[in-house]
Amino acid sequence: MLVIHVSVECFPLAKVGGLADVLGALPRYQRKFGVDAWVVSPFYDKPFTQDRSLSLIHEGDFMQGSEHLRYEVLKEEGDPLGFPLYLIRIPGKLDREEVYCYPDEAEQWIAFQHAFLHWMKSAEIMPDVVNCHDHHVGLLPFFMRHSLEYKGFSEVKTLFTIHNGQYQGWMNWNKGILLPKFDTWKWGLLDWAGVINPFAAAIKCCDAFSTVSEGYLQELFEQANGLEDLIQAEQAKGYGIVNGIDDLYWNPELDTLIDKTYRRSTVKSGKKTNKKEFCERYKIDSTVPLLAFIGRFALEKGADLLPQILEHIFTNQDNKISIFILGSGDERIQESLSALLDRYEDRFAVFFGYNETLAHQVYAAADLLLMPSRVEPCGLNQLYAMKYGTIPIVRKIGGLKDTVLDITEDGGYGFVFLNAEVNEATEAVERALQVIEDPKALHKIRQREMELDFSWDKSAQQYIKLYNQL
Ligand code: ADP
Repeated sequence: MLVIHVSVECFPLAKVGGLADVLGALPRYQRKFGVDAWVVSPFYDKPFTQDRSLSLIHEGDFMQGSEHLRYEVLKEEGDPLGFPLYLIRIPGKLDREEVYCYPDEAEQWIAFQHAFLHWMKSAEIMPDVVNCHDHHVGLLPFFMRHSLEYKGFSEVKTLFTIHNGQYQGWMNWNKGILLPKFDTWKWGLLDWAGVINPFAAAIKCCDAFSTVSEGYLQELFEQANGLEDLIQAEQAKGYGIVNGIDDLYWNPELDTLIDKTYRRSTVKSGKKTNKKEFCERYKIDSTVPLLAFIGRFALEKGADLLPQILEHIFTNQDNKISIFILGSGDERIQESLSALLDRYEDRFAVFFGYNETLAHQVYAAADLLLMPSRVEPCGLNQLYAMKYGTIPIVRKIGGLKDTVLDITEDGGYGFVFLNAEVNEATEAVERALQVIEDPKALHKIRQREMELDFSWDKSAQQYIKLYNQL
């Protein structure tokens, strides 16, 4: 079975969040189970494309509105990622440094999807399934059924995987002219509330859609940024498949990015060394529990709550704690956090920006990881944390709800709170501090969570089962 994953992020080519982690791992695990899984991504002007050997395998051109676009398809030689990676390069559109935030993003993703189908058709590649990831490639199921040129793919099954339903790729109808010519009677399939909504179009036209956790699927029925009715109407096509951990890359036993590798049996000394080295580098106290936050400074992640949560935690004299934050995004949040730095010098440190190596070091060094998310389709941070023996403190939402069991439950190994509110998050942190004060309790929780199986094996097989069903 040939399955082509189409996505604008893929680790280590281009990563902004969890979407990249999934694309960098899932296809490799699927190949392990006999599926011929490929990834097709845009070309970016990034270290990856400069350092790797890429060979040109196809060239073509098409019209986008009145613009004549030429594209190239490049393939990474030798498949070092464990799966074939194909990159579509369109000079001026898909050859830039960043993944997102360009004013002509709609034009970029339309061109990417059009070039993908143009290449498939010209090279006579007929996959069994096209697995589209998020709204950037949400128009593909429509094009494959209703565009005049690409209707030949109408029998190819499509799975639309939702990593984040908040962003839907809305574009004004004046962009309609840029799409490959389609059966105009079908315009309603592209439309939601008077604009072209690629996310909605994908839900309407795909054979099935999946979310990255079961919990998130249920939540989308109630809260889907305006698409609740549509998702409810199409719920028979919906599946929840939780993300996994890439054991090759996120594994304290093999991790070359951390100060000292360790396993379940050596977690105590391993984490102690990593924490000591880390705290020395950031000049924070290593003799008290270390709490961390990693992520985008966005409302979804509850990052706006962090300054107040920290303030509450630090002003309570009973709390013996150091805190480290790694993230970037909203500048106001950054400013509020910066303002706390001078006041809590030896207890609080931050790194503003994106730093993959540092993320590994934080998971290895921290005792606790806080995730006060408002929306969390799956959440990979809590899974990585647990793999590294770091205890998650999470809001009960989406994938966090599915993967973290509160310590008060039978066999529990985390701390769960109900609402994304400062007081509740603070209380959960204080509850965790009290529990881990006892080294035996801390050790027991670490042992429990490091034993959990969040490997991709199970989820990769669930995807394959779904492809077969289609
Ligand atoms: P998202 O909604 O951002 O995709 P996920 O939890 O699914 O959230 O995935 C987040 C991924 O991005 C994880 O691999 C996490 O370690 C990583 N990450 C987030 N922010 C940063 C950062 N500032 N530096 C390094 N890695 C980060």
